[in-house]
Amino acid sequence: MYYPFSWVKSLTKVMIFLVFIASLGALLDDTLVAILVGTLVLLATNYWQLYKLNRWLWHSRKMSPPTVSGFWEHIYEGIYYLQRRNRNKRKELGALVKRFREGSEALPDAAVVVDANARIIWCNRLARIEMGLRWPTDSGMRLDNLIRHPEFIDYFHKGRFDHPIEVSSPLNPQKIFEYRIMPYGESHLLLIARDVSRVSQLEEMRKDFVANVSHELRTPLTVITGYIELLPVPDDNPFIAKALQEMHSQTGRMQNLIEDLLILSRIEASAERVFEKSVNVHAMLRQVEAEAITLNKDKQHEIEFNLDPSLHVFGVETELRSACSNLVFNAINYTPVCGKIRVTWEKTPSGAMFSVSDNGDGIEEKHIARLTERFYRVDKARSRKTGGSGLGLSIVKHVLSHHNSHLEITSTLRVGSTFSFELDEQLIAE
Ligand code: ADP
Repeated sequence: MYYPFSWVKSLTKVMIFLVFIASLGALLDDTLVAILVGTLVLLATNYWQLYKLNRWLWHSRKMSPPTVSGFWEHIYEGIYYLQRRNRNKRKELGALVKRFREGSEALPDAAVVVDANARIIWCNRLARIEMGLRWPTDSGMRLDNLIRHPEFIDYFHKGRFDHPIEVSSPLNPQKIFEYRIMPYGESHLLLIARDVSRVSQLEEMRKDFVANVSHELRTPLTVITGYIELLPVPDDNPFIAKALQEMHSQTGRMQNLIEDLLILSRIEASAERVFEKSVNVHAMLRQVEAEAITLNKDKQHEIEFNLDPSLHVFGVETELRSACSNLVFNAINYTPVCGKIRVTWEKTPSGAMFSVSDNGDGIEEKHIARLTERFYRVDKARSRKTGGSGLGLSIVKHVLSHHNSHLEITSTLRVGSTFSFELDEQLIAE
């Protein structure tokens, strides 16, 4: 129980004691010596109390203070009160940490906390089971010494944690883990590892299925197209003539679709390294220009190519060519006759930029975000007429993601559109 300490009362007691000693000294004819002895007694008593306090603080196992009186009692009570308060706080904190740990143990993902020096502070049960961490043996060990996957180490050291990565599990190479790192507090990191084997297996199955079906369809379709081309068009039967022409154009569309599906599958499965070969983009775009001129015969657009001849980049040439030609051919196809198209390949302060601008009809804002989805078309009937498969911009998106870039689309209705992408300066080849 707290009760206020009275300095006046305490001082009065000392004064009464000294006056009593002084009077005793006066009786014995030596007041000064009596006061000196009285002061020494006071000092010795206080030293004795200090000694007791020290013993209680450092050597006693008892929480409750020894019984004393006067202002020493007040000091003991104060310390006792602080100790009890700290103990309760510690208990509360301990209970909180326990609840947090129990919660984290119940997480369906492996979780590891590391400090600013990448040393493990804590990990949950799943991290021990799935990632092979040993607890408490691995406490204080560097995480990058325990998870040795090169891709993980690269991700961990780069410090750019805005996206997760997928790599095989350190214990079982059949399992795929998605690692996500979240910085928090004072340079601490929380690593969450999730088993995504099933999702990536399904994704692989989907890719294989599309690639196989497209491949299997190619041969019969080539045979059918061949026979349709060989069949004579009868002059006396307009119905058969029309049917043959329609069959010819529809098989052509199917062939385009299958070719695009195969290109998309190839890009998705591509293991080609972007940094291996340098691409002469200028020469590549000159070929695209020649094809664009052929395609432009009916459209009569004014097409301008502004290309920097010395700007070479690292990349996969077939993929970049596919992306650029898709953008150029789209501009030709979706711009009304006699339009203006401008293609540029130039250096920018942060890399190399490819862009195609047209003064076509433009695209409504609500469609722009969805344009790179497979088979998404703004105007289905019109796209069918152009012979488009609906996969062009999807191919562009995959190619650019393989080259660590993305497609930028700006468009204004009835004014025109610009499709562009920038390759990072790291990709510029000297
Ligand atoms: P498609 O094979 O149908 O051309 P894409 O994926 O290449 O498919 O393009 C998707 C849709 O984006 C097209 O159907 C078209 O509506 C729109 N689009 C693409 N490029 C342009 C452009 N330059 N101007 C206007 N619309 C465009």
